[in-house]
Amino acid sequence: NEYHPNPGRYDGMTYNRCGESGLKLPAISLGCWHNFGDITPYERMKELTFTAFDHGITHFDLANNYGPEPGSAEKNVGRLIREYFKPYRDELIISTKAGYEMWAGPYGDLGSRKYLLASLDQSLTRLGLDYVDIFYHHRPDPETPLEETMGALASAVTSGKALYVGLSNYDGERLEQAAAILADLRVPFVINQNCYNIFDRTVERNGLKDTAARLGKGIITFCPLAQGMLTNRYLNGIPTDSRIKTDGRFLQADALSESKLAAIRALNDLAAQRGQTLAEMSLAWLLHDGIVTSVLAGASKPEQILDNIGALSNTTFTDEELRLIDEISQA
Ligand code: NDP
Repeated sequence: NEYHPNPGRYDGMTYNRCGESGLKLPAISLGCWHNFGDITPYERMKELTFTAFDHGITHFDLANNYGPEPGSAEKNVGRLIREYFKPYRDELIISTKAGYEMWAGPYGDLGSRKYLLASLDQSLTRLGLDYVDIFYHHRPDPETPLEETMGALASAVTSGKALYVGLSNYDGERLEQAAAILADLRVPFVINQNCYNIFDRTVERNGLKDTAARLGKGIITFCPLAQGMLTNRYLNGIPTDSRIKTDGRFLQADALSESKLAAIRALNDLAAQRGQTLAEMSLAWLLHDGIVTSVLAGASKPEQILDNIGALSNTTFTDEELRLIDEISQA
């Protein structure tokens, strides 16, 4: 039960400041939405987290409901921390969230103070931790006053159960309202977690990207590889070990339409011209303008993590390359 992390783990990673806060995050973070539930062998989770940490990925992202079953990803990462990462707790940023359905009845979903604070306690128990580094409201709740939800995030910090807070899936307008309340409450709100990738430009249209930059808040992008579609995974059919086949809860074969496949192939050709894999180019594209703090990629194999880190060797694009990426992805 010994783990000796690579002594050179900080040499190859870039750390970006989260907006105007004191917190830095690795440019590539590890998401535990898939491959950390009870359907994945524990040995695989060990390989994934060791590979990540050995290469400077100091941030593991969770949520109360990650699994399957809901809660099992926190439980499994908690076991990894207990067995291997305890000596390195102060080198790690562990985040979790509440906002989607977690338990039955009116108190296990959305944005009430009752739900958020009970859920954070449950998460800490599953993780075996006294505090998380970042606690997020996972999605906006139109029916709960924003003051109540932000007040719950404030309490998470004052009680010592979270060091920083974040918002996930908010748009620019709601972010601005929430940020004003959090500033009044003097809460260290540092980061927004939103979907963003070459195919999904929602944050460019709904004001989130511009507003976060203007307010000096960080952005960490989820599904940066469109769940694997922006990689070489589906260039030649649907492999049996791919997400669509192994855990198709959120990515199904019908996402791979003929036009999507044509775009994936064209993007893959462009990546090859740049001397990158498609995964590398897709992550580099998210980082190229310096606004995104970290890309939150998932992985089913350690080699994918290494490939993804390779993105950092070239995050510069010519105007022509950027134009082509827009043209191909919007066709
Ligand atoms: P990605 O878009 O990064 O997809 C990850 C998947 O792509 C991997 O599991 C793997 O799938 C494949 N892959 C990754 N790297 C490579 C590579 N180099 N070459 C080939 N295939 C590769 O992200 P996720 O969809 O996993 O989301 C990332 C994280 O974002 C989550 O874990 C979670 O932490 C967060 N998230 C947050 C949400 C929110 O509402 N706040 C919502 C969704 C996610 P395969 O199994 O096919 O190998």
